[in-house]
Amino acid sequence: MRYIHGFRDGGAAAALSQLIEAEVDATREYHLMEFCGGHTHAIFRYGVEDLLPKNVRLVHGPGCPVCVLAMPRLDAAIELASKPNVTLVSYGDMVRVPASRRRSLLKARAQSILDAPGAAGEDNQVRIDGFIGPSHVSAVIGSAPYEAFSEVYQKPVVIAGFEPLDVMQAVYMLVKQINDGRACVENQFTRGVTRDGNLKAQAIVAEVLELRPSFEWRGLGELAQSAMRIKSSYAQYDAEKRFVMQERPVRENAACQCPSIIRGMKKPTDCTIFGTVCTPRSPIGSCMVSAEGVCAAYYKYRRIRSNVVLAADVIGMPA
Ligand code: SF4
Repeated sequence: MRYIHGFRDGGAAAALSQLIEAEVDATREYHLMEFCGGHTHAIFRYGVEDLLPKNVRLVHGPGCPVCVLAMPRLDAAIELASKPNVTLVSYGDMVRVPASRRRSLLKARAQSILDAPGAAGEDNQVRIDGFIGPSHVSAVIGSAPYEAFSEVYQKPVVIAGFEPLDVMQAVYMLVKQINDGRACVENQFTRGVTRDGNLKAQAIVAEVLELRPSFEWRGLGELAQSAMRIKSSYAQYDAEKRFVMQERPVRENAACQCPSIIRGMKKPTDCTIFGTVCTPRSPIGSCMVSAEGVCAAYYKYRRIRSNVVLAADVIGMPA
Protein backbone atom coordinates (compact mmCIF):
# COMPACT_ATOMS: atom_id res chain seq x y z
CA MET A 1 0.00 0.00 0.00
CA ARG A 2 2.92 2.35 0.66
CA TYR A 3 3.85 1.95 -2.97
CA ILE A 4 0.39 3.03 -4.10
CA HIS A 5 0.18 5.88 -1.58
CA GLY A 6 3.24 7.41 -3.17
CA PHE A 7 1.17 8.01 -6.28
CA ARG A 8 -1.58 9.71 -4.23
CA ASP A 9 0.66 12.08 -2.30
CA GLY A 10 -0.84 15.54 -1.90
CA GLY A 11 2.50 17.37 -1.77
CA ALA A 12 3.72 15.72 -4.95
CA ALA A 13 0.39 16.50 -6.62
CA ALA A 14 0.74 20.18 -5.70
CA ALA A 15 4.27 20.28 -7.12
CA LEU A 16 3.12 18.57 -10.33
CA SER A 17 0.24 20.99 -10.55
CA GLN A 18 2.72 23.91 -10.51
CA LEU A 19 4.86 22.24 -13.18
CA ILE A 20 1.82 21.88 -15.45
CA GLU A 21 0.80 25.49 -14.77
CA ALA A 22 4.29 26.67 -15.77
CA GLU A 23 4.28 24.59 -18.96
CA VAL A 24 0.80 25.54 -20.16
CA ASP A 25 0.46 28.28 -22.77
CA ALA A 26 -2.18 30.62 -21.35
CA THR A 27 -3.20 31.78 -24.85
CA ARG A 28 -4.53 28.41 -25.97
CA GLU A 29 -6.74 25.55 -24.83
CA TYR A 30 -5.77 21.91 -24.38
CA HIS A 31 -8.41 19.22 -24.88
CA LEU A 32 -7.14 15.87 -23.63
CA MET A 33 -9.24 12.71 -23.79
CA GLU A 34 -8.90 9.71 -21.50
CA PHE A 35 -10.72 6.83 -23.12
CA CYS A 36 -10.62 4.39 -20.22
CA GLY A 37 -13.13 4.56 -17.37
CA GLY A 38 -10.38 3.72 -14.87
CA HIS A 39 -8.79 7.10 -15.59
CA THR A 40 -12.17 8.84 -15.42
CA HIS A 41 -12.76 7.47 -11.94
CA ALA A 42 -9.26 8.45 -10.75
CA ILE A 43 -9.83 11.97 -12.10
CA PHE A 44 -13.15 12.38 -10.27
CA ARG A 45 -12.23 10.54 -7.11
CA TYR A 46 -9.10 12.62 -6.46
CA GLY A 47 -10.31 15.89 -7.97
CA VAL A 48 -7.54 15.96 -10.58
CA GLU A 49 -9.38 18.54 -12.70
CA ASP A 50 -9.28 20.98 -9.78
CA LEU A 51 -5.47 20.82 -9.87
CA LEU A 52 -5.21 21.72 -13.55
CA PRO A 53 -5.20 25.14 -15.20
CA LYS A 54 -8.63 26.20 -16.48
CA ASN A 55 -7.50 25.97 -20.12
CA VAL A 56 -6.61 22.26 -19.75
CA ARG A 57 -9.84 20.40 -20.32
CA LEU A 58 -10.17 16.67 -19.73
CA VAL A 59 -12.63 15.05 -22.13
CA HIS A 60 -14.07 11.79 -20.83
CA GLY A 61 -14.23 9.21 -23.58
CA PRO A 62 -15.98 5.92 -24.29
CA GLY A 63 -14.88 3.86 -21.26
CA CYS A 64 -14.74 0.09 -21.32
CA PRO A 65 -16.17 -2.14 -24.07
CA VAL A 66 -19.22 -2.69 -21.86
CA CYS A 67 -20.21 0.97 -22.29
CA VAL A 68 -20.14 0.77 -26.07
CA LEU A 69 -21.58 -2.67 -26.76
CA ALA A 70 -24.48 -2.23 -29.18
CA MET A 71 -27.97 -2.83 -27.81
CA PRO A 72 -29.08 -5.42 -30.43
CA ARG A 73 -26.05 -7.53 -29.45
CA LEU A 74 -27.15 -7.43 -25.82
CA ASP A 75 -30.68 -8.37 -26.82
CA ALA A 76 -29.36 -11.34 -28.79
CA ALA A 77 -27.21 -12.43 -25.82
CA ILE A 78 -30.17 -12.13 -23.43
CA GLU A 79 -32.27 -14.26 -25.75
CA LEU A 80 -29.51 -16.83 -25.79
CA ALA A 81 -29.07 -16.76 -22.01
CA SER A 82 -32.80 -17.40 -21.61
CA LYS A 83 -32.60 -20.74 -23.43
CA PRO A 84 -32.45 -23.94 -21.35
CA ASN A 85 -29.08 -25.63 -20.96
CA VAL A 86 -27.11 -22.58 -22.05
CA THR A 87 -24.28 -21.24 -19.90
CA LEU A 88 -23.25 -17.82 -21.13
CA VAL A 89 -19.90 -16.33 -20.17
CA SER A 90 -19.41 -12.56 -20.40
CA TYR A 91 -17.37 -9.70 -19.00
CA GLY A 92 -18.44 -8.94 -15.43
CA ASP A 93 -20.30 -5.68 -15.86
CA MET A 94 -21.93 -6.71 -19.10
CA VAL A 95 -24.60 -8.69 -17.30
CA ARG A 96 -26.00 -5.45 -15.83
CA VAL A 97 -26.02 -3.29 -18.98
CA PRO A 98 -29.58 -2.51 -20.01
CA ALA A 99 -30.62 -3.56 -23.50
CA SER A 100 -33.97 -2.63 -25.04
CA ARG A 101 -37.07 -2.55 -22.79
CA ARG A 102 -34.57 -2.14 -19.89
CA ARG A 103 -33.85 -5.86 -19.82
CA SER A 104 -30.37 -7.01 -18.96
CA LEU A 105 -28.48 -10.30 -19.00
CA LEU A 106 -28.75 -10.34 -15.23
CA LYS A 107 -32.52 -9.98 -15.29
CA ALA A 108 -32.90 -12.50 -18.07
CA ARG A 109 -31.10 -15.07 -16.09
CA ALA A 110 -28.55 -14.62 -14.99
CA GLN A 111 -14.97 1.72 -29.50
CA SER A 112 -11.76 5.21 -33.20
CA ILE A 113 -13.23 8.20 -31.70
CA LEU A 114 -11.98 10.33 -34.53
CA ASP A 115 -13.50 8.19 -37.27
CA ALA A 116 -16.75 7.49 -35.44
CA PRO A 117 -19.76 8.33 -37.61
CA GLY A 118 -21.74 9.30 -34.50
CA ALA A 119 -25.43 9.42 -33.77
CA ALA A 120 -27.72 10.37 -36.61
CA GLY A 121 -28.23 14.07 -37.07
CA GLU A 122 -25.59 15.12 -34.53
CA ASP A 123 -22.56 17.22 -35.13
CA ASN A 124 -19.72 14.85 -34.29
CA GLN A 125 -16.93 17.39 -34.24
CA VAL A 126 -15.17 17.18 -30.89
CA ARG A 127 -11.79 18.78 -30.46
CA ILE A 128 -9.11 16.50 -29.01
CA ASP A 129 -5.45 17.55 -28.85
CA GLY A 130 -4.06 14.43 -27.19
CA PHE A 131 -4.98 11.10 -25.63
CA ILE A 132 -4.29 9.42 -22.29
CA GLY A 133 -3.97 5.69 -23.02
CA PRO A 134 -4.79 2.85 -20.60
CA SER A 135 -1.97 1.08 -18.78
CA HIS A 136 -3.67 -2.26 -18.06
CA VAL A 137 -4.41 -3.01 -21.72
CA SER A 138 -0.99 -1.69 -22.72
CA ALA A 139 0.74 -4.02 -20.25
CA VAL A 140 -0.41 -6.81 -22.60
CA ILE A 141 -0.32 -5.20 -26.05
CA GLY A 142 2.60 -2.84 -25.40
CA SER A 143 2.87 0.77 -26.51
CA ALA A 144 3.79 0.03 -30.13
CA PRO A 145 0.20 -0.50 -31.44
CA TYR A 146 -0.63 3.17 -30.70
CA GLU A 147 2.19 4.45 -32.90
CA ALA A 148 0.35 4.16 -36.23
CA PHE A 149 -2.68 5.95 -34.75
CA SER A 150 -0.56 8.78 -33.38
CA GLU A 151 1.27 9.19 -36.68
CA VAL A 152 -1.79 9.03 -38.96
CA TYR A 153 -3.87 11.48 -36.88
CA GLN A 154 -0.91 13.52 -35.66
CA LYS A 155 -2.13 13.28 -32.07
CA PRO A 156 0.08 12.70 -29.04
CA VAL A 157 -0.65 9.64 -26.90
CA VAL A 158 0.67 9.08 -23.37
CA ILE A 159 0.03 5.71 -21.71
CA ALA A 160 -0.64 6.32 -18.03
CA GLY A 161 -1.28 4.43 -14.81
CA PHE A 162 -4.51 4.78 -12.84
CA GLU A 163 -3.33 6.71 -9.80
CA PRO A 164 -3.90 10.48 -9.66
CA LEU A 165 -0.21 11.35 -9.99
CA ASP A 166 0.03 9.05 -13.01
CA VAL A 167 -2.77 10.98 -14.69
CA MET A 168 -1.27 14.35 -13.79
CA GLN A 169 2.14 13.36 -15.10
CA ALA A 170 0.51 12.18 -18.34
CA VAL A 171 -1.21 15.56 -18.66
CA TYR A 172 2.17 17.27 -18.21
CA MET A 173 3.77 15.04 -20.88
CA LEU A 174 0.90 15.70 -23.30
CA VAL A 175 1.07 19.46 -22.77
CA LYS A 176 4.80 19.37 -23.48
CA GLN A 177 4.28 17.39 -26.68
CA ILE A 178 1.57 19.76 -27.86
CA ASN A 179 3.68 22.83 -27.09
CA ASP A 180 6.64 21.29 -28.93
CA GLY A 181 4.46 20.45 -31.95
CA ARG A 182 5.23 16.76 -31.53
CA ALA A 183 2.80 13.84 -31.94
CA CYS A 184 4.20 10.55 -30.71
CA VAL A 185 3.53 7.78 -28.20
CA GLU A 186 5.08 8.20 -24.77
CA ASN A 187 4.90 5.84 -21.82
CA GLN A 188 4.31 7.31 -18.37
CA PHE A 189 3.62 3.87 -16.86
CA THR A 190 7.14 2.52 -17.27
CA ARG A 191 6.69 0.43 -14.13
CA GLY A 192 4.31 -1.89 -16.01
CA VAL A 193 4.32 -1.20 -19.75
CA THR A 194 7.00 -1.86 -22.35
CA ARG A 195 6.97 -1.12 -26.08
CA ASP A 196 6.45 -4.79 -27.01
CA GLY A 197 4.12 -5.77 -24.14
CA ASN A 198 3.56 -9.27 -22.79
CA LEU A 199 4.53 -11.54 -25.69
CA LYS A 200 3.30 -14.72 -23.96
CA ALA A 201 -0.15 -13.25 -23.41
CA GLN A 202 -0.24 -11.93 -26.97
CA ALA A 203 0.55 -15.43 -28.28
CA ILE A 204 -2.35 -16.92 -26.31
CA VAL A 205 -4.76 -14.25 -27.57
CA ALA A 206 -3.54 -14.79 -31.15
CA GLU A 207 -4.08 -18.53 -30.78
CA VAL A 208 -7.77 -18.09 -29.92
CA LEU A 209 -8.91 -14.72 -31.32
CA GLU A 210 -8.67 -12.80 -34.58
CA LEU A 211 -9.73 -9.34 -35.75
CA ARG A 212 -13.22 -8.84 -37.18
CA PRO A 213 -13.38 -6.84 -40.41
CA SER A 214 -15.70 -4.39 -38.62
CA PHE A 215 -18.00 -4.12 -35.60
CA GLU A 216 -20.86 -1.84 -34.57
CA TRP A 217 -20.43 -0.04 -31.22
CA ARG A 218 -22.97 1.85 -29.18
CA GLY A 219 -22.67 5.55 -29.93
CA LEU A 220 -19.70 5.08 -32.23
CA GLY A 221 -21.27 3.20 -35.11
CA GLU A 222 -19.50 0.71 -37.37
CA LEU A 223 -15.70 0.77 -37.00
CA ALA A 224 -13.28 -1.28 -39.11
CA GLN A 225 -11.03 -3.79 -37.29
CA SER A 226 -12.18 -2.62 -33.86
CA ALA A 227 -13.16 -5.93 -32.24
CA MET A 228 -12.06 -9.55 -32.01
CA ARG A 229 -13.84 -12.83 -32.72
CA ILE A 230 -13.13 -16.46 -31.90
CA LYS A 231 -11.12 -18.27 -34.56
CA SER A 232 -12.77 -21.11 -36.48
CA SER A 233 -10.40 -23.62 -34.82
CA TYR A 234 -12.23 -22.86 -31.54
CA ALA A 235 -15.70 -22.72 -33.10
CA GLN A 236 -17.10 -25.15 -30.51
CA TYR A 237 -16.80 -22.33 -27.93
CA ASP A 238 -18.24 -19.61 -30.18
CA ALA A 239 -21.87 -18.75 -29.33
CA GLU A 240 -22.21 -16.90 -32.64
CA LYS A 241 -21.52 -20.14 -34.49
CA ARG A 242 -23.27 -22.58 -32.20
CA PHE A 243 -26.55 -20.70 -31.85
CA VAL A 244 -28.77 -18.64 -34.10
CA MET A 245 -28.48 -15.12 -32.68
CA GLN A 246 -30.87 -12.60 -34.15
CA GLU A 247 -30.08 -8.92 -33.83
CA ARG A 248 -33.04 -6.62 -34.28
CA PRO A 249 -32.68 -2.84 -34.49
CA VAL A 250 -33.78 -1.09 -31.26
CA ARG A 251 -34.02 2.53 -30.17
CA GLU A 252 -32.08 4.00 -27.26
CA ASN A 253 -34.02 5.86 -24.57
CA ALA A 254 -34.60 9.28 -26.15
CA ALA A 255 -33.40 11.17 -23.06
CA CYS A 256 -30.13 9.25 -22.73
CA GLN A 257 -27.08 11.20 -23.89
CA CYS A 258 -24.64 8.27 -23.78
CA PRO A 259 -23.78 8.39 -27.51
CA SER A 260 -22.66 12.01 -27.17
CA ILE A 261 -21.03 11.50 -23.76
CA ILE A 262 -18.81 8.61 -24.82
CA ARG A 263 -17.57 10.72 -27.74
CA GLY A 264 -16.68 13.56 -25.39
CA MET A 265 -19.31 15.93 -26.79
CA LYS A 266 -21.50 16.19 -23.69
CA LYS A 267 -21.25 15.69 -19.96
CA PRO A 268 -23.56 13.55 -17.80
CA THR A 269 -25.00 16.73 -16.30
CA ASP A 270 -26.27 17.65 -19.79
CA CYS A 271 -28.66 14.70 -19.49
CA THR A 272 -32.02 15.76 -18.09
CA ILE A 273 -32.54 12.49 -16.19
CA PHE A 274 -29.05 12.20 -14.70
CA GLY A 275 -29.15 11.43 -10.97
CA THR A 276 -32.93 11.43 -10.78
CA VAL A 277 -34.54 8.87 -13.09
CA CYS A 278 -31.16 7.42 -14.02
CA THR A 279 -29.00 6.30 -11.07
CA PRO A 280 -26.60 3.39 -10.50
CA ARG A 281 -29.48 1.49 -8.86
CA SER A 282 -31.82 2.20 -11.73
CA PRO A 283 -29.62 2.83 -14.77
CA ILE A 284 -31.09 3.85 -18.10
CA GLY A 285 -27.93 3.94 -20.19
CA SER A 286 -24.63 2.08 -20.27
CA CYS A 287 -22.62 5.07 -18.96
CA MET A 288 -24.44 4.71 -15.64
CA VAL A 289 -24.61 0.95 -15.33
CA SER A 290 -21.00 0.19 -16.04
CA ALA A 291 -18.88 0.72 -12.94
CA GLU A 292 -16.38 2.48 -15.21
CA GLY A 293 -18.97 4.64 -16.96
CA VAL A 294 -18.71 8.43 -16.94
CA CYS A 295 -22.21 8.95 -15.53
CA ALA A 296 -21.48 6.49 -12.70
CA ALA A 297 -18.28 8.39 -11.88
CA TYR A 298 -20.10 11.75 -11.86
CA TYR A 299 -22.78 10.30 -9.61
CA LYS A 300 -20.41 8.55 -7.22
CA TYR A 301 -18.07 11.48 -6.73
CA ARG A 302 -20.76 14.17 -6.89
CA ARG A 303 -19.26 16.09 -9.85
CA ILE A 304 -22.58 17.74 -10.54
CA ARG A 305 -24.09 21.05 -11.40
CA SER A 306 -25.64 22.81 -8.43
CA ASN A 307 -29.26 22.53 -9.58
CA VAL A 308 -29.15 18.73 -9.90
CA VAL A 309 -30.51 16.92 -6.85
CA LEU A 310 -29.32 13.34 -6.79
CA ALA A 311 -31.77 10.59 -5.90
CA ALA A 312 -29.22 9.39 -3.34
CA ASP A 313 -29.39 12.74 -1.56
CA VAL A 314 -33.19 12.67 -1.47
CA ILE A 315 -33.60 9.20 -0.01
CA GLY A 316 -30.32 9.10 1.86
CA MET A 317 -28.85 6.07 0.15
CA PRO A 318 -25.12 5.61 -0.25
CA ALA A 319 -23.69 6.68 -3.62
S1 SF4 B 1 -27.47 9.79 -16.90
FE1 SF4 B 1 -28.27 7.82 -17.61
S2 SF4 B 1 -29.71 8.32 -19.24
FE2 SF4 B 1 -28.40 10.13 -18.91
S3 SF4 B 1 -26.72 9.88 -20.34
FE3 SF4 B 1 -26.05 8.96 -18.43
S4 SF4 B 1 -26.59 6.80 -18.62
FE4 SF4 B 1 -27.74 7.90 -20.24
